[in-house]
Amino acid sequence: MMQLFIPLNFLGFVYREIRGALANIERMFGLLDRVPLIEDKVDAKAIKLSRGELKFDKVCFSYDTRPILNSVSFTVLPGQKIAIVGDSGAGKSTIVKLLFRFYEVSSGSISLDGIKIDELTQDALRQAIAIVPQDTVLFNDSLLENVRYGRPDATDEEIAAAVKMAHLSHFIEALPDGWHTKVGERGLKLSGGEKQRVAIARAILKGSPLLVFDEATSSLDSHSEQAILNALKEVAKGHTSLVIAHRLSTIVDADQIVVLSKGQVVETGDHLSLLANNGLYAKLWNIQNQ
Ligand code: ADP
Ligand code: MG
Repeated sequence: MMQLFIPLNFLGFVYREIRGALANIERMFGLLDRVPLIEDKVDAKAIKLSRGELKFDKVCFSYDTRPILNSVSFTVLPGQKIAIVGDSGAGKSTIVKLLFRFYEVSSGSISLDGIKIDELTQDALRQAIAIVPQDTVLFNDSLLENVRYGRPDATDEEIAAAVKMAHLSHFIEALPDGWHTKVGERGLKLSGGEKQRVAIARAILKGSPLLVFDEATSSLDSHSEQAILNALKEVAKGHTSLVIAHRLSTIVDADQIVVLSKGQVVETGDHLSLLANNGLYAKLWNIQNQ
């Protein structure tokens, strides 16, 4: 009886862990609908990408028959920061979903370090990208383990360094149990900004060449926002970053800003050149800064 009981209990644990991880990925992308399963090609490359060069080349995409993206092109060089802005429904999150290959493009291509993403194994692709999602899911475990999730074999020292870079050290030191404090639904509830900093620490730990940051729409107070921006600057050093921006004030320093409208790139440039252009970006900027 005992022998049967233990493995079943263990299986239950494994099941919950897997369920938790899947729920995390789904929530990360707000994908409550069913995602079609995409399989690796037989000769897919399992290589470790390290440069972080990203290219969208005339990418078109439709959900069923409804066109969403129309010939979207941009190139981000290693170490650069690119921002994608545009009204809600413009197709920004779709760009991120295609980058993760949750869906296949209808035409055109997406490449990382010069390799088309459908030539890579999905493992290789997902190792190359770290995402800081809009709504970070914390597991019912200690803060330490929640950060370690970014790279399960990381040492405590590496985790401490990531936590420091993510501007979380002061917050953690103020807790009675420090980073052994239990968080999640059954533990300490963290604010949106604190959860995002946990996600940034995870991303730093993962060390992927490409970082994707989906800014929170819910307005953080300006203190939290500043802490996140500072943390992000740290993680972006030596990495390529792609930021989906809602607040334009957070991306004025981007090397390149892609302005998306109804699935099409209508303008590209840096902050000053786009303001001078007096187009959609300037309009959005004026609305947000009046
Ligand atoms: P953004 O992130 O810029 O707000 P999205 O990329 O999420 O925009 O959405 C672009 C368009 O695609 C929207 O009109 C949205 O309703 C539609 N859309 C998003 N996800 C799906 C889906 N799973 N099935 C069908 N249409 C979708
Ligand atoms: Mg979106």
